[in-house]
Amino acid sequence: MIDPNYIRDRIRTVPDWPQAGVQFRDITPLLQDPKTFRVLVDCFVHRYMDQQIDVVAGVDARGFILGSVVAYELNLGFIPVRKKGKLPFHTVEESYELEYGSSTVELHTDACRAGDRVLLIDDLVATGGTMMAAARLIAKLGGTVAEAAAIVDLPELGGSELIRANGIPLYTVCDFA
Ligand code: 5GP
Repeated sequence: MIDPNYIRDRIRTVPDWPQAGVQFRDITPLLQDPKTFRVLVDCFVHRYMDQQIDVVAGVDARGFILGSVVAYELNLGFIPVRKKGKLPFHTVEESYELEYGSSTVELHTDACRAGDRVLLIDDLVATGGTMMAAARLIAKLGGTVAEAAAIVDLPELGGSELIRANGIPLYTVCDFA
């Protein structure tokens, strides 16, 4: 079992980035230290090794880092959920609201098949908008999100509650309450 405090203590909080008033939780120190990176990846691999996952989806861009390594270790394929305009083939798209404006994510139409159990990975859940949009993309292709997973939950922003309220199981390693 991973110790949430071990991971939380190694996340760097950057005040007023990318804008005043935001406390950005920077996960790059977790990736930079070989032992911590391994502990983190192993935690996800052990959690999902017996869950009959068909494919791992990672969310642009930090979800790619963790998701692709977890997919490799699980001997599964990896599919990128990308910001609009980056994927070259036919896509499905979903938009979601940001504090100011909106954003759109896309998935290739052949990224997963109907009935696939998809493990959806990002680094952090805040309002849950990104994870929910990614989950809707997977649903559009007929896949099921077996579980959404992230390193960090910011519960005060309500995303984890929203995701679970929509019937999507969610696992996070640690939170900043
Ligand atoms: P949400 O859509 O849940 O509001 O925001 C989550 C998305 O924004 C994730 O893709 C995540 O990478 C990014 N994000 C928002 N705030 C932070 C933060 O404080 N730290 C990190 N690492 N990512 C954040």
